[in-house]
Amino acid sequence: FLETKELYKIYEVGGQEVHALDGVSVAIDRGEFVAIMGPSGSGKSTFMNIIGCLDEPTRGDYFLDGIEVAGLDRDELAEIRNRKVGFVFQGFNLLPRTSALENVELPMLYNNLSAAERKKRAMDALRMLGLKGREQHAPSQLSGGQQQRVAIARALANEAPLLLADEPTGNLDTKTSVEIMELLKGLNSASGITIVLVTHEPEIAAYSRRIIRFRDGRVQSDEATGSS
Ligand code: ATP
Ligand code: MG
Repeated sequence: FLETKELYKIYEVGGQEVHALDGVSVAIDRGEFVAIMGPSGSGKSTFMNIIGCLDEPTRGDYFLDGIEVAGLDRDELAEIRNRKVGFVFQGFNLLPRTSALENVELPMLYNNLSAAERKKRAMDALRMLGLKGREQHAPSQLSGGQQQRVAIARALANEAPLLLADEPTGNLDTKTSVEIMELLKGLNSASGITIVLVTHEPEIAAYSRRIIRFRDGRVQSDEATGSS
């Protein structure tokens, strides 16, 4: 479903080269639930940004759902991102002064859906994630866990086949983290949505079925977890 081949990302900072990704080749099938782990600075977020079509590699190939992504221009990249990818990122998240409902509707603006259909899908997704009655709340009027659920609703309503989560439980308490992870796991089993998530916490990674460890911009190990 997605495949990177010898992916490199090299940043130039003050005349020095930083090899954020140093030849990463990874293939992920549709419906997989994968955790990315590794030390700070090992290239996890850089990898996520590239597979999420937010950024382009310096070198290497990337295929998403049969589309050759590396080398596309900005607009083409944005178009694929809107159709194929949902994000549950810390920071890269919800529009702060926009209601939960509008946040969920936003990516659907690019999909030629009628306003009525957009609203219906957004309402359904919010209800499914236990946010009925919160549609008009702005993110600042919601808890951290509720905000993450709005972000998940946004990805689901748009029927994005790929859900990327960079430290989705990073600023949540343990109980809420468990709820979010149970939710993601249930969605993955029920709908077959492909999930790739970055985490530093082994307890969170244990929800996935496969753990890819990064080190110094390379894949250090890639193993099944045994989780069902
Ligand atoms: P963390 O666990 O701390 O989030 P990470 O594994 O996500 O770390 P990345 O953010 O992918 O790490 O960064 C990989 C390397 O690339 C680091 O050395 C970082 O300093 C560098 N880097 C990331 N973004 C940029 C940028 N925009 N310009 C220059 N260097 C960058
Ligand atoms: Mg990171």
